[in-house]
Amino acid sequence: MMLTGIGIIQGKMTTDQQTTEQLTPDMERTIFHVDMDAFYAAVEQRDCPEYRDRPVIVGADPQGGQGRGVVAACSYQARKFGIHSALPISRAFRLCPDGVYLRPDMKRYVGVSQRIREIFHTYTDVVEPLSIDEAFLDMSHAAHNTDMALEVARSLKATILKEQRLTASIGIAPNKFVAKIASDIEKPEGLVLVSLPEVQSFLDPLAISRLWGVGPKTESKLVKMGIKTILQLRHYDKEILIERFGRLGEHLRKLSNGIDQRALVVQREAKSMGHERTFAEDVGNIETLEKTLKLLCEKVSERLCARGLAGRTVALKLRYSDFKTITRQTTFPQPVESADHIYPAVHRLIRKFRDPKQRIRLVGVSVSSLETEADRGAQQMKLF
Ligand SMILES: [Mg+2]
Repeated sequence: MMLTGIGIIQGKMTTDQQTTEQLTPDMERTIFHVDMDAFYAAVEQRDCPEYRDRPVIVGADPQGGQGRGVVAACSYQARKFGIHSALPISRAFRLCPDGVYLRPDMKRYVGVSQRIREIFHTYTDVVEPLSIDEAFLDMSHAAHNTDMALEVARSLKATILKEQRLTASIGIAPNKFVAKIASDIEKPEGLVLVSLPEVQSFLDPLAISRLWGVGPKTESKLVKMGIKTILQLRHYDKEILIERFGRLGEHLRKLSNGIDQRALVVQREAKSMGHERTFAEDVGNIETLEKTLKLLCEKVSERLCARGLAGRTVALKLRYSDFKTITRQTTFPQPVESADHIYPAVHRLIRKFRDPKQRIRLVGVSVSSLETEADRGAQQMKLF
């Protein structure tokens, strides 16, 4: 089944922050929510083989059942004892006194998290990190239908597993909130895709607590009104909902109808300027690749000039037919902005690094280490 309408944006490949914001609100999208499975505990089990098959509980010191504080994360073996994150550590200890209790090693987890984020960025530039172990990825440009979306998701999971020996669950949906629910449904190692026509039937039977904005207070209020499922909320009288909950009522009605048009929040500054192109069919012919790259260089140059920017680093991105993506870059001693400088660099990179045995699905060019004319002026001033 197609995620309706996603094919429309094929071929119009631009990726940096500016373009993300220009997405029209009602454009159909392919959003991934990637959530690492039992992240802290999984990192501990990965790094310490004797923990692999054991209930591992990361959190406060249990102090033999007297400890204060809570469970931060626990392995799936620990969940069998009824332990879950946010449970008081003393209670966890009573449920499973023989578990492996560890204090969080945040520095190590942050390091792993950063490497996983780098993997995300080899798939898309539009990444919204939600926390240390989960993020939204806008994959609309790479996945034009559900088969492609699933293929990309499997590839992403396999890459994380290969490079970090950790598992992730992925939810795929036309918007953020449905994707987030979907990633949770089949944890661990889940992969759930909810296509646009399936959104409503996916949501309807779920408990209202699944909706963003429904905390314990709102939940008990809704339950008193006889609303337990998303279907019941959706059918409830609109006026009464808005009268009792105000703007929240309006928001919940939208969500229960599967409507969530929020764009991904990409916090990174636009530190680079780039253009990409996904081919309708994978390309092996070097002349075609070079012709496309030349065009991309001209577009990048145009935009740099329009903003009075120039950059010292020129990067080439290649995505092969199996989704493996490489980026190779070269740095100039002086910032450049003209296609006459950018293209020869890109040309050298593709001649040097392309694997000619493989076909290519996407090429991209970007210029980074950007400077404005004012920056350059200031640097020249410093020289004096
Ligand atoms: Mg997680």
